[in-house]
Amino acid sequence: MVQDRLFFHSTNLRSPETSFREALLNGLAPDGGLYMPSAIPVFKAGELEVFSSKEYHEIASSVLEKYTGNEIEPMHLKAMCEDAYDFEIPIERVYDRYYIMRLDRGPTASFKDFAARMMGRMMQYFLAGDERNLTILTATSGDTGSAVANAFHGLDNIRVIILFPAEEVTSLQRKQMTTLRDNVRVIAVNGKFDDCQQLVKNAFTDPVLEDLNLSSANSINIGRLLPQIVYYFYAWSRVSGKQDDPVVFSVPSGNFGNLMGGLLAWKMGLPVRRFVVATNSNDEVPVYLETGIYRKISPSKDCISSAMNVGHPGNLPRMVSLYGGVMDEAGVITRAPDLKKMREDIFAVSVSETETRETIRLCHSQSGLLLEPHGAVAWKGLQKYLHHCTLPGDESRVCIALETAHPAKFHEEISKLLGVTPPFPESLSKVEGRKEDFLPFENNYANFRDFLRKNYK
Ligand SMILES: *Cc1c(COP(=O)(O)O)cnc(C)c1O
Repeated sequence: MVQDRLFFHSTNLRSPETSFREALLNGLAPDGGLYMPSAIPVFKAGELEVFSSKEYHEIASSVLEKYTGNEIEPMHLKAMCEDAYDFEIPIERVYDRYYIMRLDRGPTASFKDFAARMMGRMMQYFLAGDERNLTILTATSGDTGSAVANAFHGLDNIRVIILFPAEEVTSLQRKQMTTLRDNVRVIAVNGKFDDCQQLVKNAFTDPVLEDLNLSSANSINIGRLLPQIVYYFYAWSRVSGKQDDPVVFSVPSGNFGNLMGGLLAWKMGLPVRRFVVATNSNDEVPVYLETGIYRKISPSKDCISSAMNVGHPGNLPRMVSLYGGVMDEAGVITRAPDLKKMREDIFAVSVSETETRETIRLCHSQSGLLLEPHGAVAWKGLQKYLHHCTLPGDESRVCIALETAHPAKFHEEISKLLGVTPPFPESLSKVEGRKEDFLPFENNYANFRDFLRKNYK
């Protein structure tokens, strides 16, 4: 059933409600908040059970249609989903009812492909026939940049600028971005990820750049969040498929976009028992759930699960808003959420570096399971949940831990730990020989602004 119209409001509650199109193209709400659907659409029980016999892209269009309503023509939405999701999504049984879902088979080998590919297509849809060009400006610590660059590469009306910290991405991650060219420009900033993010933020709020039509592709964009709802439905449909057999998901979390997708799936009617939220040593959210006091970690700690080195998750205001609270972009809570309910729904746990490495080793020797650091954090988080916090009957629940990147992306760490190099998927090996193209840049906003004005008018 297509809903007539769904609106999107800001978590800061000071911007007017907008359409999906505006929310997608704006990225951030004018009041600095994050867009959330004003009502969460719900599936009826019978609607979900048919998912077991549907392909991934069909489930995707059923889920997304609930949000895009009549703003995207359903036939077009179906075609976009089919086009975006042309890769496999393995769900491996490890033992009993414990599974790993591998979200790493997209073109850039991380789960960011699920969101970026759909967002690119939706933006393209809304811009078709438009005179204006959109310039996507995004900062990356590695995986987002390549997924976004890949998703937008070759699209009309859209130009992409990606900033990365020159010394802090692996050469493989860099090559995934710098070998594309055409409408994708890559800038190596002499600084840290936080510096890249600051340059991007300054540009967004700079009145001098207003006519440039800048938009963001970071995980705060609602267009990146919604596609991340889908694989939770898919997972349930493949390993349970029954209304009375709810699933425990373990989600390796950094900016909390992945988790938000899961929470929205649950609110939409997906049978979920609980979410395990596993972080690395950047444990500000586990500490918050335990103590009720939120303190960001600055600077964030460097862990081998590098995509989760986040000391203040961008999506946290969304999670707080789901539980009735208000948190601004600085992390200040002006209305308390229902912490009790949050703790019932979410088991948040931090996994240390030693535990992460030990998990990669143990899984490999005991079950032949190959995990990279992010997936290992999720798997260990799940074990901790099962040991410390079982609800009655939870031993026999279906549990699914998410593996968010391909082990080959972290081959240095893995071969150090296991003495074997993970096999490279074609998507990763093919960038090796290609010519790179990127622009070295000082960490200086005035220069960056001049560069944008000269080249992106
Ligand atoms: C981005 C990323 C994460 C963290 O996801 P969030 O949505 O930011 O919580 C985990 N693993 C990998 C491999 C990632 O690239």
